[in-house]
Amino acid sequence: MLLKSNLDEAQTGKRISAKGYAVANKDDTFKPFSFTRHALGENDILIEILYAGICHSDIHSARSEWHEGIYPMVPGHEIAGKVVAVGSKVSKFQVGDYAGVGCMVNSCGECAACKASNEQFCENGKMVLTYDCKDCFHNDEPTFGGYSNNIVVSEKFAIKVPKDAPLDKVAPLLCAGITTYSPLKFSKIKKGDKVGVAGFGGLGVMALKYAIKMGAEVSVFARNENKKQEALRLGAKALYTTDKLDSIKERFDFIISTIPTRYDPMSYINLLKNGGEMAIVGLPPSGESIETDMTRLVFQANKKVYGSLIGGIKETQEMLDFSLEHRIYPETEIIRADEINMAYENLTNGKAKFRYVIDMGSLES
Ligand code: NDP
Ligand code: ZN
Repeated sequence: MLLKSNLDEAQTGKRISAKGYAVANKDDTFKPFSFTRHALGENDILIEILYAGICHSDIHSARSEWHEGIYPMVPGHEIAGKVVAVGSKVSKFQVGDYAGVGCMVNSCGECAACKASNEQFCENGKMVLTYDCKDCFHNDEPTFGGYSNNIVVSEKFAIKVPKDAPLDKVAPLLCAGITTYSPLKFSKIKKGDKVGVAGFGGLGVMALKYAIKMGAEVSVFARNENKKQEALRLGAKALYTTDKLDSIKERFDFIISTIPTRYDPMSYINLLKNGGEMAIVGLPPSGESIETDMTRLVFQANKKVYGSLIGGIKETQEMLDFSLEHRIYPETEIIRADEINMAYENLTNGKAKFRYVIDMGSLES
């Protein structure tokens, strides 16, 4: 439950007190943590967080797998909740509305990328990540994410969520949803396309569902057959284990890789037809990339390989509306806030199914 004092703080322009779960360093486990957020600005909204998804990026960040993290760190960028206060100039939200927040909380708003609603590529380097980031709009103070009871965010970076939406299912859409929807749209996936999904976790399952909705025939690539029945139940045509990829060369129009560990992209590029496209969204720890043989690349028949980073705010709203309209939801397991450590363990040792979602009502008061 949101503290009553938060409303007083919001109304009197004070910093907003918050509580959540944080790690103190890359080897730490999650423990309860109290902190404050910047005061409610005139264009900001205060959201009571009801659900937060656990993305594999949270694990990479908490464990400093990409770069040295900012600690204490409260991860979480799959946030869904209820608006409890609005700044004086807010027009998009009213108190009582539902709202979602993804990976970004601000950007310059003036460069060509921001004007085109590609805020994730802000050309002035002012894109502020939801956590583990210095907030250049608030004296470079560190941002704290969604494993907490509230968040203050510029209304521009909050996504509108209809009142009847299932918020526990909406939360993971704010990252897993947009990160897979965006490249599928970018590559114009259409009826009859043969699509491959490499890595079948939180993102992979969304890629499967969106691609099927767009009319594609979808295959899944995984390290083992543990989730074969799930994949088939959800509409996949087949699940291939990664030791069998040589037998399915040059069959796919599009492949999305959501793999979060060291792997050889060439083994997937080989599976594309002439002119096929591959989007890489998985982000293995830095230093774990495999060197690519240029000669093998040159002989790859006009295939295109590109990276894709979440999606802009406009597209995130479009993705959310599309998901709700077609009832495309993540596969979720709801946990308590004191179970985050268990979830991290399972997500790194292959025991997790798809998306863990933290019920923030379980935060002790
Ligand atoms: P999950 O942990 O939920 O899923 C990852 C899946 O990949 C698991 O099913 C795992 O299976 C599988 N996997 C791991 N290694 C391999 C391998 N070598 N070959 C095939 N499958 C493998 O992670 P998420 O879906 O939450 O995130 C995936 C990645 O996407 C992360 O690196 C994350 O940081 C990144 N990401 C990128 C974004 C972007 O904007 N580009 C946004 C959000 C996330 P198992 O372990 O059971 O074998
Ligand atoms: Zn994420």
